[in-house]
Amino acid sequence: MTQITDHLAKTERRVASSLTHAGRASDAVTIVAVSKQHSAEAIAEAYAAGQRHFGENYLQEALPKMDRLAGLDIVWHFIGRIQSNKTRPIAERFDWVHTIDRERIAHRLDAQRPADAAPLDVLIEVNLAGEAQKAGIAANDVAALADAIAALPRLRLRGLMTMPPAASSPAESRLQFDALRELAAELRPRHPTIDTLSMGMSNDFEIAIECGATMVRIGTAIFGPRG
Ligand SMILES: *Cc1c(COP(=O)(O)O)cnc(C)c1O
Repeated sequence: MTQITDHLAKTERRVASSLTHAGRASDAVTIVAVSKQHSAEAIAEAYAAGQRHFGENYLQEALPKMDRLAGLDIVWHFIGRIQSNKTRPIAERFDWVHTIDRERIAHRLDAQRPADAAPLDVLIEVNLAGEAQKAGIAANDVAALADAIAALPRLRLRGLMTMPPAASSPAESRLQFDALRELAAELRPRHPTIDTLSMGMSNDFEIAIECGATMVRIGTAIFGPRG
């Protein structure tokens, strides 16, 4: 058994036990294996162990790996910052985008999503801590962006994503995860396609699962430390 196989199995067990602990269904969470700064070989190893969802942050790094792995049945998630002049490869190559935080990006992805592909599954990234430097839209502006996205035929609004500041205590992270769940619940009557909460990383996914996460984005715990 390789180290990645072993770490993946351990991560799956931790996810399963968090779900049990929270009284949630055993299939309620999808693990997105965050493979940034890890090789195509590392991805192939996790794939061989059954992992199908992978997340990448940087296009320049992701595209060659996606080319190498083109034969595999991988669901690709874009989880990095989106530059507006680089939306086309995201619209063409990815299945999910977790980091939409402005209307301009949503319009470009909609226009560039190929007609023969399924609509692009998208999440709105919410900046709940109000950190000035950080990506993500303020909670107060989410409803308007959700309406704008719902009007775009080539995008499918699936939910919300957040990432607490790196220095957050477990208690602070929990407040933000609870807030994201409540925000999604407020949007759902108007946007019934919302079924996804992307929250939780290697250091806080157990808390996120208790708070209702349906996707956890896990890098280090599966692939080890990044360069
Ligand atoms: C890198 C990254 C992750 C994974 O972080 P780990 O701490 O390695 O699990 C998750 N989400 C986003 C948006 C990231 O950039």
